[in-house]
Parts: sequence; structure tokens; C-alpha cells
Amino acid sequence: MSKRTVILATRNRHKVEELRILLGGNMNWLNLADFPEAPAVVEDADTFAGNAAKKAKELAEYIRCIGYPITDAFVLADDSGLEVDELNGAPGVYSARFAYLESGEPGNAPDTLNNTKLLKMLADVPEGKRTARFRCVLAWQAVGDLRAPLPVHTLFEGKCEGNILFAPQGETGFGYDPLFVPTGHGQSFAELGEEIKNHLSHRGQAAKLLGAWLAEEL
Ligand code: IMP
Repeated sequence: MSKRTVILATRNRHKVEELRILLGGNMNWLNLADFPEAPAVVEDADTFAGNAAKKAKELAEYIRCIGYPITDAFVLADDSGLEVDELNGAPGVYSARFAYLESGEPGNAPDTLNNTKLLKMLADVPEGKRTARFRCVLAWQAVGDLRAPLPVHTLFEGKCEGNILFAPQGETGFGYDPLFVPTGHGQSFAELGEEIKNHLSHRGQAAKLLGAWLAEEL
């Protein structure tokens, strides 16, 4: 059987690498860096599921529109973020641009600014009340036959519970990894390293569900 071509609807090299490892080698992997002309998606849904579905559908429509010569092609979109209980679930769907919310500056804020803002907002919150979780929704979207309507996408959700540190720890990973200690562990995602993170993480959990579903689909 020929390999599936999967186009990841992201330019985030960390997400690309994690998903490629999590979902294995039996696919041809492309991502938005391979389609530099693809229009940016406005992530204005108020849920991870809504934004993941939007990213998947809009990229699939673009791939159909340019008539990219691939059969058996699929788009995979990830929308993910951090929910902090003391902040009523913030930064949530605004995780990537958290530090720019007040200024309205466009685009994603650098990880260091997002982390600094989060630590400031939690400065007076004691240990034991710094509970949080990462969430991830993956949207799997077939590009489909150009003469037929766009096929329906399927969603897979994962989460990982943990706590927010008082200062960053560790060097690996991305985003809020240096501040997040998964429940049952004594180190941050940025200290635990790629393999343990992938096993525990929100993205790992969602990818596991997608992988099992794909195995059934074969
Ligand atoms: P998205 O690209 O719009 O889905 O934004 C995701 C944002 O959530 C990232 O920019 C990070 O700030 C945060 N995030 C999502 N997954 C992770 C993770 O695995 N580790 C650390 N931060 C993450």
C-alpha cells in the first residue's frame, strides 16, 4: 500500500517534530513550510476543537484549490494550549499570543514573554493552587476528490494535568514546557525530555487516539 501524504497545518517546528515521532514513519510528512503561499488562518474560535477544525479545513481547501498533485493526501491540524485553574482557564486558546493580548500586537508572542506574563499573574498563588493542564485537539481532514465536497474531518482530544512552577526549569521543548510539571513527576516538561514528554503529553494522548483510529481505518 502506498504511503499516505500528511500535511501538517503548522509552521511550529516543535509540533512538526513531535507529531512526526508520535505518528510514526509510514507517512510522507509535509508542513506549512512546504506551502509558503498558503494563507494564514485566523484562529478566532473559542475552543481548541473549533480552531483545529478551521486550520484543517482551510488548508485542505487551499491544497484542493492549487491542484497539488497528490493522491491519498490528508491534512492534520493541532490546536493546543495551557489552562490554568487560578486564571479561570487562561491562557487557553490564547496561549500562543498571551503576552500580546493587551497590546493587540499581531501574531504569536515569544515564549519567554508568555512565560514571564504567566509567572507574574501567578506570583501570589501558592503551591497546591497552581494546578493546570495542557489540552490538544488534532483534526484529521482528508483532502479528497476535487470534484466532491470536502470530506468531514475527525477530531481527537488529549490532555495532561500538572502544576505551574515559580520559575522556568529545563532547556528542551517549547512554549510553556519549562513551567509545567506533569502530575506524578518532579521535573518540568523541558527537563523530562522529548521521549517522556511525548509519552505523557496532551499531544501524545491525542496522537495515540488518532493512531489507533488510523490503524482501524486501514
Ligand atoms: P497554537 O499553535 O495556536 O495551537 O498555539 C499553541 C500554543 O500553546 C503554543 O504556542 C504554546 O504556547 C502552547 N503549547 C501548546 N502545546 C504545548 C506544549 O506541548 N508545550 C508547551 N507549550 C505548548
